[in-house]
Amino acid sequence: MSKQKRFLLSEAELPTQWYNIQADMKNKPLPPLNPATKEPVSVDDLSHVFAHECAKQELDQTHAWIDIPTEVLERYKYYRSTPLVRAYALEEALGTPAHIYFKNESVSPLGSHKINSALPQCYYCKQEGVTNVTTETGAGQWGAALSYAAKAFGLECAVYQVKISMLQKPYRSSIMRTFGATVEGSPSMSTRAGKDIITADPNHPGSLGTAISEAIELATTTPNCKYTLGSVLNHVALHQTIIGLEAEKQMAMAGEYPDTIIACFGGGSNFGGLAFPFMRHQLQMENGKSSNGKWIDFIAAEPSSCPKLTKGKFEYDFGDSAGYTPLLPMYTLGHDFKPANIHAGGLRYHGAGVIVSQLLKDGYMRGMDIPQTESFQAGLLFARTESIIPAPESCHAIAATIREALKCKETGEQKVILFNLSGHGLIDMTAYDSFLNGDLQDFEYKG
Ligand SMILES: *Cc1c(COP(=O)(O)O)cnc(C)c1O
Repeated sequence: MSKQKRFLLSEAELPTQWYNIQADMKNKPLPPLNPATKEPVSVDDLSHVFAHECAKQELDQTHAWIDIPTEVLERYKYYRSTPLVRAYALEEALGTPAHIYFKNESVSPLGSHKINSALPQCYYCKQEGVTNVTTETGAGQWGAALSYAAKAFGLECAVYQVKISMLQKPYRSSIMRTFGATVEGSPSMSTRAGKDIITADPNHPGSLGTAISEAIELATTTPNCKYTLGSVLNHVALHQTIIGLEAEKQMAMAGEYPDTIIACFGGGSNFGGLAFPFMRHQLQMENGKSSNGKWIDFIAAEPSSCPKLTKGKFEYDFGDSAGYTPLLPMYTLGHDFKPANIHAGGLRYHGAGVIVSQLLKDGYMRGMDIPQTESFQAGLLFARTESIIPAPESCHAIAATIREALKCKETGEQKVILFNLSGHGLIDMTAYDSFLNGDLQDFEYKG
Protein backbone atom coordinates (compact mmCIF):
# COMPACT_ATOMS: atom_id res chain seq x y z
CA MET A 1 0.00 0.00 0.00
CA SER A 2 1.46 3.31 -1.00
CA LYS A 3 0.56 6.48 0.76
CA GLN A 4 1.66 10.06 1.03
CA LYS A 5 3.36 11.42 4.09
CA ARG A 6 2.91 15.16 4.72
CA PHE A 7 4.98 17.45 6.91
CA LEU A 8 3.52 20.77 8.05
CA LEU A 9 4.78 23.56 10.29
CA SER A 10 2.78 25.15 13.07
CA GLU A 11 2.15 28.91 12.93
CA ALA A 12 4.86 29.43 15.54
CA GLU A 13 7.38 27.59 13.35
CA LEU A 14 6.78 29.71 10.23
CA PRO A 15 9.86 31.64 9.10
CA THR A 16 9.64 35.35 9.95
CA GLN A 17 12.45 36.51 7.65
CA TRP A 18 13.36 35.96 4.00
CA TYR A 19 16.87 34.93 3.00
CA ASN A 20 18.88 37.24 0.71
CA ILE A 21 21.50 35.02 -0.92
CA GLN A 22 23.28 38.03 -2.47
CA ALA A 23 24.81 38.79 0.93
CA ASP A 24 26.58 35.42 1.01
CA MET A 25 27.67 35.19 -2.63
CA LYS A 26 31.41 35.43 -3.22
CA ASN A 27 30.93 36.71 -6.76
CA LYS A 28 28.12 39.22 -6.42
CA PRO A 29 25.74 39.63 -9.35
CA LEU A 30 26.88 42.40 -11.70
CA PRO A 31 24.79 45.58 -11.46
CA PRO A 32 21.87 46.28 -13.79
CA LEU A 33 22.81 49.09 -16.18
CA ASN A 34 20.97 52.11 -17.49
CA PRO A 35 20.85 51.38 -21.25
CA ALA A 36 21.45 55.02 -22.20
CA THR A 37 24.42 55.81 -19.93
CA LYS A 38 25.69 52.26 -19.26
CA GLU A 39 25.96 53.35 -15.61
CA PRO A 40 24.70 51.05 -12.82
CA VAL A 41 21.11 51.86 -11.90
CA SER A 42 20.43 53.11 -8.37
CA VAL A 43 17.64 52.38 -5.92
CA ASP A 44 16.16 55.76 -6.88
CA ASP A 45 16.19 54.84 -10.58
CA LEU A 46 14.39 51.58 -9.88
CA SER A 47 11.91 53.34 -7.58
CA HIS A 48 10.46 55.19 -10.59
CA VAL A 49 9.00 51.88 -11.68
CA PHE A 50 8.91 49.63 -8.59
CA ALA A 51 7.90 50.09 -4.97
CA HIS A 52 10.82 51.73 -3.15
CA GLU A 53 11.23 48.85 -0.70
CA CYS A 54 11.38 46.34 -3.58
CA ALA A 55 13.98 48.53 -5.32
CA LYS A 56 16.06 48.49 -2.12
CA GLN A 57 15.79 44.72 -1.80
CA GLU A 58 16.73 44.34 -5.47
CA LEU A 59 20.15 45.89 -4.97
CA ASP A 60 20.78 44.77 -1.38
CA GLN A 61 24.02 42.79 -1.30
CA THR A 62 24.68 43.11 2.44
CA HIS A 63 21.69 42.01 4.55
CA ALA A 64 21.31 38.23 4.54
CA TRP A 65 18.01 38.29 6.44
CA ILE A 66 15.08 40.60 5.76
CA ASP A 67 12.06 40.76 8.07
CA ILE A 68 8.73 39.68 6.62
CA PRO A 69 6.27 42.48 7.53
CA THR A 70 3.64 41.36 10.06
CA GLU A 71 0.77 42.17 7.67
CA VAL A 72 2.35 39.91 5.03
CA LEU A 73 2.98 37.15 7.54
CA GLU A 74 -0.69 37.29 8.55
CA ARG A 75 -1.65 36.78 4.90
CA TYR A 76 0.90 33.97 4.49
CA LYS A 77 -0.91 32.20 7.31
CA TYR A 78 -4.01 31.86 5.08
CA TYR A 79 -2.19 29.03 3.27
CA ARG A 80 1.25 28.50 4.83
CA SER A 81 3.05 26.42 5.70
CA THR A 82 2.54 24.48 2.48
CA PRO A 83 2.99 20.72 2.80
CA LEU A 84 6.25 18.92 2.21
CA VAL A 85 5.21 15.53 0.87
CA ARG A 86 7.04 12.22 0.54
CA ALA A 87 5.90 10.80 -2.81
CA TYR A 88 5.84 7.08 -1.99
CA ALA A 89 3.48 6.17 -4.83
CA LEU A 90 5.63 7.90 -7.44
CA GLU A 91 8.73 6.15 -6.06
CA GLU A 92 6.92 2.83 -6.25
CA ALA A 93 5.72 3.41 -9.81
CA LEU A 94 9.28 4.22 -10.88
CA GLY A 95 10.77 1.33 -8.91
CA THR A 96 13.48 3.68 -7.70
CA PRO A 97 15.48 3.43 -4.48
CA ALA A 98 15.49 7.26 -4.39
CA HIS A 99 13.39 9.07 -1.79
CA ILE A 100 11.28 11.68 -3.55
CA TYR A 101 9.86 14.68 -1.72
CA PHE A 102 7.94 17.61 -3.11
CA LYS A 103 7.05 20.97 -1.65
CA ASN A 104 3.44 21.61 -2.57
CA GLU A 105 2.96 25.29 -3.47
CA SER A 106 -0.19 24.39 -5.41
CA VAL A 107 -2.25 24.69 -2.22
CA SER A 108 -2.11 28.50 -2.24
CA PRO A 109 -5.42 30.30 -2.88
CA LEU A 110 -4.47 30.91 -6.52
CA GLY A 111 -2.84 27.54 -7.09
CA SER A 112 0.81 28.55 -7.46
CA HIS A 113 3.79 29.95 -5.58
CA LYS A 114 3.32 33.42 -7.08
CA ILE A 115 1.29 35.02 -4.28
CA ASN A 116 4.34 34.61 -2.00
CA SER A 117 5.74 37.66 -3.79
CA ALA A 118 2.50 39.35 -4.90
CA LEU A 119 1.52 39.89 -1.25
CA PRO A 120 4.67 41.73 -0.13
CA GLN A 121 4.86 43.74 -3.37
CA CYS A 122 1.30 45.02 -2.90
CA TYR A 123 1.88 45.56 0.80
CA TYR A 124 4.92 47.78 0.15
CA CYS A 125 3.02 49.71 -2.53
CA LYS A 126 0.19 50.38 -0.10
CA GLN A 127 2.67 51.49 2.59
CA GLU A 128 4.25 53.91 0.13
CA GLY A 129 0.96 55.54 -0.89
CA VAL A 130 0.68 53.88 -4.30
CA THR A 131 -2.89 53.38 -5.52
CA ASN A 132 -2.47 51.33 -8.73
CA VAL A 133 -0.35 48.36 -9.72
CA THR A 134 0.20 46.90 -13.14
CA THR A 135 2.01 43.93 -14.56
CA GLU A 136 2.35 41.45 -17.36
CA THR A 137 1.35 37.82 -17.12
CA GLY A 138 1.98 34.77 -19.28
CA ALA A 139 -0.17 31.80 -18.42
CA GLY A 140 -1.98 34.14 -16.04
CA GLN A 141 -0.60 32.84 -12.76
CA TRP A 142 1.19 36.06 -11.87
CA GLY A 143 -1.69 38.26 -13.00
CA ALA A 144 -4.08 36.20 -10.90
CA ALA A 145 -1.75 36.37 -7.90
CA LEU A 146 -1.32 40.12 -8.24
CA SER A 147 -5.07 40.67 -8.62
CA TYR A 148 -5.62 38.73 -5.40
CA ALA A 149 -2.91 40.60 -3.50
CA ALA A 150 -4.02 44.00 -4.84
CA LYS A 151 -7.52 43.32 -3.57
CA ALA A 152 -6.12 42.14 -0.23
CA PHE A 153 -4.30 45.47 0.26
CA GLY A 154 -6.87 47.75 -1.41
CA LEU A 155 -5.07 48.62 -4.69
CA GLU A 156 -6.38 48.92 -8.26
CA CYS A 157 -4.80 46.41 -10.65
CA ALA A 158 -4.37 46.36 -14.46
CA VAL A 159 -2.87 43.28 -16.12
CA TYR A 160 -1.43 42.77 -19.62
CA GLN A 161 -1.73 39.10 -20.48
CA VAL A 162 0.23 37.45 -23.32
CA LYS A 163 -2.38 37.09 -26.09
CA ILE A 164 -1.66 33.46 -26.96
CA SER A 165 -1.83 32.47 -23.29
CA MET A 166 -5.10 34.36 -22.84
CA LEU A 167 -6.61 32.17 -25.57
CA GLN A 168 -5.07 29.01 -24.12
CA LYS A 169 -6.13 29.77 -20.53
CA PRO A 170 -9.36 31.76 -20.66
CA TYR A 171 -10.23 31.08 -17.01
CA ARG A 172 -7.21 32.92 -15.66
CA SER A 173 -8.54 36.23 -16.91
CA SER A 174 -11.86 35.34 -15.27
CA ILE A 175 -10.00 34.88 -12.00
CA MET A 176 -8.27 38.24 -12.36
CA ARG A 177 -11.55 39.97 -13.10
CA THR A 178 -13.18 38.17 -10.19
CA PHE A 179 -10.65 39.86 -7.92
CA GLY A 180 -11.45 43.20 -9.55
CA ALA A 181 -8.52 43.63 -11.98
CA THR A 182 -8.78 44.82 -15.59
CA VAL A 183 -7.15 42.54 -18.18
CA GLU A 184 -5.82 43.30 -21.70
CA GLY A 185 -4.34 40.87 -24.22
CA SER A 186 -0.77 41.84 -25.22
CA PRO A 187 0.26 43.13 -27.69
CA SER A 188 -2.67 45.54 -27.31
CA MET A 189 -3.55 48.84 -28.93
CA SER A 190 -3.62 50.60 -25.54
CA THR A 191 0.11 51.44 -25.41
CA ARG A 192 2.66 52.79 -27.84
CA ALA A 193 4.81 49.67 -27.42
CA GLY A 194 1.82 47.44 -28.19
CA LYS A 195 0.82 49.47 -31.26
CA ASP A 196 4.37 49.29 -32.63
CA ILE A 197 4.49 45.52 -32.24
CA ILE A 198 1.09 44.99 -33.89
CA THR A 199 2.02 47.29 -36.76
CA ALA A 200 5.17 45.25 -37.45
CA ASP A 201 3.43 41.89 -37.02
CA PRO A 202 -0.40 41.88 -36.85
CA ASN A 203 -0.43 38.19 -35.86
CA HIS A 204 2.11 38.50 -33.07
CA PRO A 205 1.06 35.92 -30.44
CA GLY A 206 2.52 38.05 -27.67
CA SER A 207 5.24 37.06 -25.24
CA LEU A 208 6.20 37.95 -21.71
CA GLY A 209 8.52 40.50 -23.31
CA THR A 210 5.74 42.35 -25.16
CA ALA A 211 3.51 42.35 -22.10
CA ILE A 212 6.31 43.67 -19.86
CA SER A 213 6.88 46.56 -22.26
CA GLU A 214 3.23 47.51 -22.15
CA ALA A 215 2.93 47.29 -18.37
CA ILE A 216 6.08 49.37 -17.81
CA GLU A 217 4.78 51.98 -20.23
CA LEU A 218 1.49 52.18 -18.30
CA ALA A 219 3.32 52.44 -14.96
CA THR A 220 5.63 55.22 -16.13
CA THR A 221 2.83 57.25 -17.75
CA THR A 222 0.23 56.89 -14.94
CA PRO A 223 0.59 58.84 -11.68
CA ASN A 224 0.78 56.75 -8.50
CA CYS A 225 1.06 53.53 -10.46
CA LYS A 226 3.82 51.00 -9.88
CA TYR A 227 4.96 48.12 -11.96
CA THR A 228 5.38 44.69 -10.41
CA LEU A 229 7.12 41.61 -11.66
CA GLY A 230 6.42 38.02 -10.70
CA SER A 231 9.71 36.43 -11.69
CA VAL A 232 13.29 37.14 -12.82
CA LEU A 233 14.13 39.94 -10.36
CA ASN A 234 16.10 39.53 -7.15
CA HIS A 235 13.40 40.80 -4.80
CA VAL A 236 10.94 38.29 -6.22
CA ALA A 237 13.30 35.38 -5.55
CA LEU A 238 13.90 36.87 -2.09
CA HIS A 239 10.18 36.68 -1.24
CA GLN A 240 10.02 33.14 -2.60
CA THR A 241 12.69 31.92 -0.17
CA ILE A 242 9.81 31.31 2.24
CA ILE A 243 9.46 28.05 0.25
CA GLY A 244 12.98 26.79 0.92
CA LEU A 245 13.12 28.07 4.49
CA GLU A 246 10.00 26.08 5.32
CA ALA A 247 11.24 23.08 3.35
CA GLU A 248 14.49 23.04 5.33
CA LYS A 249 12.56 22.69 8.60
CA GLN A 250 10.20 20.14 7.08
CA MET A 251 13.05 18.00 5.71
CA ALA A 252 14.47 17.99 9.23
CA MET A 253 11.09 16.72 10.49
CA ALA A 254 11.37 13.95 7.90
CA GLY A 255 14.86 13.21 9.17
CA GLU A 256 16.48 13.62 5.75
CA TYR A 257 18.53 16.12 3.76
CA PRO A 258 18.31 16.50 -0.03
CA ASP A 259 21.07 15.32 -2.38
CA THR A 260 19.26 16.82 -5.34
CA ILE A 261 16.98 19.85 -5.52
CA ILE A 262 14.89 20.46 -8.61
CA ALA A 263 12.51 23.18 -9.73
CA CYS A 264 11.13 24.29 -13.06
CA PHE A 265 12.60 27.46 -14.46
CA GLY A 266 10.89 30.44 -16.09
CA GLY A 267 12.83 33.40 -14.70
CA GLY A 268 14.02 31.59 -11.60
CA SER A 269 11.78 32.61 -8.71
CA ASN A 270 10.40 29.25 -7.63
CA PHE A 271 13.79 27.68 -8.30
CA GLY A 272 15.61 30.32 -6.25
CA GLY A 273 12.89 30.23 -3.62
CA LEU A 274 13.45 26.55 -2.95
CA ALA A 275 17.18 26.38 -3.68
CA PHE A 276 18.75 29.47 -2.07
CA PRO A 277 18.11 28.60 1.60
CA PHE A 278 19.81 25.24 1.03
CA MET A 279 22.60 26.73 -1.10
CA ARG A 280 23.28 29.10 1.80
CA HIS A 281 24.99 26.32 3.73
CA GLN A 282 27.39 25.66 0.85
CA LEU A 283 28.23 29.34 0.53
CA GLN A 284 28.84 29.59 4.26
CA MET A 285 31.09 26.57 4.13
CA GLU A 286 33.13 28.25 1.40
CA ASN A 287 33.23 31.49 3.35
CA GLY A 288 34.57 29.50 6.30
CA LYS A 289 31.50 30.43 8.36
CA SER A 290 30.24 26.89 8.70
CA SER A 291 31.49 23.35 8.36
CA ASN A 292 28.27 21.40 8.08
CA GLY A 293 27.24 22.26 4.54
CA LYS A 294 26.64 19.48 2.07
CA TRP A 295 26.97 19.77 -1.70
CA ILE A 296 23.62 19.50 -3.38
CA ASP A 297 22.98 18.94 -7.08
CA PHE A 298 20.73 21.90 -7.97
CA ILE A 299 18.82 21.36 -11.20
CA ALA A 300 16.72 23.98 -12.99
CA ALA A 301 14.34 22.31 -15.44
CA GLU A 302 13.59 24.45 -18.48
CA PRO A 303 11.70 23.71 -21.72
CA SER A 304 13.98 22.48 -24.51
CA SER A 305 12.23 25.02 -26.77
CA CYS A 306 13.35 27.93 -24.53
CA PRO A 307 16.75 26.79 -23.19
CA LYS A 308 18.39 29.97 -21.87
CA LEU A 309 20.33 28.13 -19.16
CA THR A 310 21.93 25.51 -21.39
CA LYS A 311 22.05 27.36 -24.73
CA GLY A 312 21.81 31.03 -23.83
CA LYS A 313 24.71 33.47 -23.64
CA PHE A 314 25.77 35.23 -20.46
CA GLU A 315 25.59 38.90 -21.41
CA TYR A 316 23.83 42.18 -20.68
CA ASP A 317 20.37 42.11 -22.25
CA PHE A 318 17.01 43.80 -21.85
CA GLY A 319 14.37 42.13 -19.69
CA ASP A 320 11.64 42.96 -22.22
CA SER A 321 11.28 42.91 -26.00
CA ALA A 322 10.94 46.68 -26.46
CA GLY A 323 14.04 47.55 -24.46
CA TYR A 324 12.38 49.53 -21.64
CA THR A 325 14.02 47.74 -18.73
CA PRO A 326 17.58 48.21 -17.44
CA LEU A 327 20.21 45.97 -19.02
CA LEU A 328 20.53 42.83 -16.93
CA PRO A 329 23.61 40.57 -16.76
CA MET A 330 22.06 37.21 -17.44
CA TYR A 331 21.87 34.05 -19.48
CA THR A 332 19.64 35.01 -22.36
CA LEU A 333 18.46 33.84 -25.76
CA GLY A 334 18.18 37.50 -26.80
CA HIS A 335 15.35 39.88 -25.90
CA ASP A 336 13.82 39.49 -29.38
CA PHE A 337 13.65 35.68 -29.04
CA LYS A 338 10.14 34.44 -29.86
CA PRO A 339 9.46 31.26 -27.90
CA ALA A 340 7.40 28.43 -29.41
CA ASN A 341 3.77 28.23 -28.26
CA ILE A 342 4.29 25.59 -25.60
CA HIS A 343 1.61 25.21 -22.95
CA ALA A 344 3.95 25.98 -20.07
CA GLY A 345 3.35 29.71 -20.56
CA GLY A 346 5.25 30.61 -17.40
CA LEU A 347 8.46 29.18 -18.85
CA ARG A 348 8.34 31.10 -22.15
CA TYR A 349 10.82 33.80 -21.16
CA HIS A 350 14.09 34.63 -22.91
CA GLY A 351 16.31 35.24 -19.88
CA ALA A 352 17.26 34.07 -16.40
CA GLY A 353 17.39 36.13 -13.21
CA VAL A 354 20.77 37.74 -12.49
CA ILE A 355 21.43 35.87 -9.22
CA VAL A 356 20.74 32.51 -10.80
CA SER A 357 22.79 33.50 -13.86
CA GLN A 358 25.81 34.26 -11.68
CA LEU A 359 25.36 31.02 -9.72
CA LEU A 360 25.11 29.04 -12.96
CA LYS A 361 28.21 30.74 -14.33
CA ASP A 362 30.06 29.89 -11.10
CA GLY A 363 29.04 26.22 -11.26
CA TYR A 364 26.65 26.00 -8.29
CA MET A 365 23.78 24.61 -10.33
CA ARG A 366 22.88 23.24 -13.74
CA GLY A 367 20.12 23.52 -16.27
CA MET A 368 18.24 20.56 -17.72
CA ASP A 369 16.19 20.76 -20.93
CA ILE A 370 12.85 18.97 -21.04
CA PRO A 371 10.83 18.46 -24.24
CA GLN A 372 7.14 19.32 -23.98
CA THR A 373 5.76 15.80 -24.47
CA GLU A 374 8.13 14.36 -21.86
CA SER A 375 6.91 16.98 -19.40
CA PHE A 376 3.25 16.03 -19.87
CA GLN A 377 4.08 12.32 -19.70
CA ALA A 378 5.66 13.05 -16.33
CA GLY A 379 2.65 15.12 -15.31
CA LEU A 380 0.29 12.23 -16.06
CA LEU A 381 2.34 9.78 -14.02
CA PHE A 382 2.42 12.26 -11.14
CA ALA A 383 -1.35 12.84 -11.29
CA ARG A 384 -2.04 9.11 -11.36
CA THR A 385 0.30 8.35 -8.47
CA GLU A 386 0.20 11.42 -6.22
CA SER A 387 -3.37 12.56 -6.99
CA ILE A 388 -2.51 16.14 -7.93
CA ILE A 389 -2.71 17.45 -11.50
CA PRO A 390 0.46 19.54 -11.85
CA ALA A 391 0.77 22.84 -13.73
CA PRO A 392 2.43 22.40 -17.16
CA GLU A 393 5.37 24.41 -15.78
CA SER A 394 5.74 22.11 -12.78
CA CYS A 395 5.63 19.08 -15.10
CA HIS A 396 9.15 20.06 -16.18
CA ALA A 397 10.40 19.69 -12.60
CA ILE A 398 8.63 16.35 -12.32
CA ALA A 399 10.19 15.13 -15.59
CA ALA A 400 13.65 16.10 -14.34
CA THR A 401 12.93 14.35 -11.03
CA ILE A 402 11.88 11.20 -12.86
CA ARG A 403 15.08 11.28 -14.94
CA GLU A 404 17.18 11.53 -11.76
CA ALA A 405 15.14 8.88 -9.94
CA LEU A 406 15.54 6.46 -12.86
CA LYS A 407 19.29 7.09 -12.82
CA CYS A 408 19.25 6.01 -9.16
CA LYS A 409 17.42 2.86 -10.22
CA GLU A 410 20.31 2.05 -12.55
CA THR A 411 23.05 2.82 -10.06
CA GLY A 412 21.22 1.65 -6.94
CA GLU A 413 21.90 4.98 -5.21
CA GLN A 414 19.37 5.93 -2.55
CA LYS A 415 19.41 9.65 -3.22
CA VAL A 416 17.04 12.08 -1.56
CA ILE A 417 15.41 14.21 -4.25
CA LEU A 418 13.38 17.29 -3.38
CA PHE A 419 11.42 19.15 -6.04
CA ASN A 420 9.05 22.07 -6.02
CA LEU A 421 5.50 21.58 -7.20
CA SER A 422 5.11 25.21 -8.21
CA GLY A 423 1.42 24.95 -9.05
CA HIS A 424 -1.56 22.78 -9.97
CA GLY A 425 -2.89 22.40 -13.49
CA LEU A 426 -6.63 22.51 -12.90
CA ILE A 427 -7.03 25.55 -15.15
CA ASP A 428 -4.68 24.09 -17.75
CA MET A 429 -6.81 21.19 -18.86
CA THR A 430 -6.86 22.26 -22.53
CA ALA A 431 -3.12 21.52 -22.48
CA TYR A 432 -3.74 18.08 -20.99
CA ASP A 433 -6.49 17.51 -23.57
CA SER A 434 -4.07 18.26 -26.42
CA PHE A 435 -1.55 15.87 -24.93
CA LEU A 436 -4.09 13.10 -24.35
CA ASN A 437 -5.39 13.52 -27.91
CA GLY A 438 -1.85 13.14 -29.23
CA ASP A 439 -1.81 16.69 -30.61
CA LEU A 440 1.18 18.03 -28.72
CA GLN A 441 4.53 18.37 -30.41
CA ASP A 442 8.06 19.09 -29.30
CA PHE A 443 9.80 22.22 -30.49
CA GLU A 444 13.54 22.21 -30.83
CA TYR A 445 15.43 25.41 -30.19
CA LYS A 446 17.04 26.72 -33.34
CA GLY A 447 19.74 29.12 -32.21
C1 LIG B 1 5.23 31.52 -13.20
C2 LIG B 1 5.34 30.11 -12.91
C3 LIG B 1 6.56 29.43 -13.07
C4 LIG B 1 7.81 30.08 -13.61
O1 LIG B 1 8.29 31.18 -12.92
P1 LIG B 1 9.61 31.16 -12.03
O2 LIG B 1 9.85 32.58 -11.68
O3 LIG B 1 10.70 30.58 -12.84
O4 LIG B 1 9.29 30.34 -10.85
C5 LIG B 1 6.59 28.10 -12.73
N1 LIG B 1 5.51 27.44 -12.29
C6 LIG B 1 4.32 28.04 -12.15
C7 LIG B 1 3.14 27.26 -11.66
C8 LIG B 1 4.19 29.40 -12.45
O5 LIG B 1 3.01 29.99 -12.30
